[in-house]
Amino acid sequence: MLQYPSNQISAVVLGIMQDGGLPHIGCRCPRCAAAFEKQSPPQYAACLAVVDTRKPQPSVWLIDATPDIKYQLDLLAPAVGSHRQRRGRLRQIDGIFITHAHMGHIGGLPQLGPEAMAVEELPVYAPEELCRILSTTELWSPLLRNLNLTPLQPNQAVDLAPDLRISPIPVPHRDEWGAGTFAYLIQGPRNSLLYLPDIDSWEAWPKAREQLNHVDFALVDASFYSADELGGRPPVAHPLVPRTVSLFNDLPCQLVLTHLNHTNPLLDLDSEQRQTVLAAGVDIAETGQLFPL
Ligand SMILES: [Zn+2]
Ligand SMILES: [Zn+2]
Ligand SMILES: [Zn+2]
Repeated sequence: MLQYPSNQISAVVLGIMQDGGLPHIGCRCPRCAAAFEKQSPPQYAACLAVVDTRKPQPSVWLIDATPDIKYQLDLLAPAVGSHRQRRGRLRQIDGIFITHAHMGHIGGLPQLGPEAMAVEELPVYAPEELCRILSTTELWSPLLRNLNLTPLQPNQAVDLAPDLRISPIPVPHRDEWGAGTFAYLIQGPRNSLLYLPDIDSWEAWPKAREQLNHVDFALVDASFYSADELGGRPPVAHPLVPRTVSLFNDLPCQLVLTHLNHTNPLLDLDSEQRQTVLAAGVDIAETGQLFPL
């Protein structure tokens, strides 16, 4: 059970994997096989929560609704607290901020609908075009009646408390529907954090260095360590880890790698690649890891 420090705001990592998680569907690699056979723990799709425990009833927000949302909500249980009317149930959280329309980032939304959690007027913030697609797709209509779907414009800040603010920052990422992708900048009274699980390349986002230079913590896309992981398939658009480390390692922020594909050798505790990254002073995200905001 995770414990949340009292009387402060924390960002907490609830998953570190690329959209498919670990084990990965249909994969027979030794890493996935070990997870399927429960010799190593499963790892959830990339997700971050913001928890503010400064009031008797803490506030809890999620970034992204992943296919592992039910386990991620369970990790939040000590902070979320009990539902007032429904005995033995968790209270519903205070809101969800969606980065983009890909499976690992919205795949948990159906769990909130009438078949499962049946939330009531849960605030869900997402890029405007994604809101439009969700609300015009009939398949999602029973769920959408339970959500307060709120479109966000790029850089439109939302105040979660007088001294806690979250802002969507547009980043280039494979965009099938013109719905866009957001990173989120979270600014608390003590520290700021940039959460950026998916980006096509650093070259495609010239502001990257400046943006990372202005935060205390930067949790960024580390899907692939090397192009060999793609098994000769056409390159999937994500920066490779050594490039990310060499580009940003000199910045004052704590650089934290997340959104790892199941093929990424950083997942092996004794891998040479993991040792190299850690020796360079770069962090690899862990479920339960806390960042004070
Ligand atoms: Zn993703
Ligand atoms: Zn695998
Ligand atoms: Zn994506």
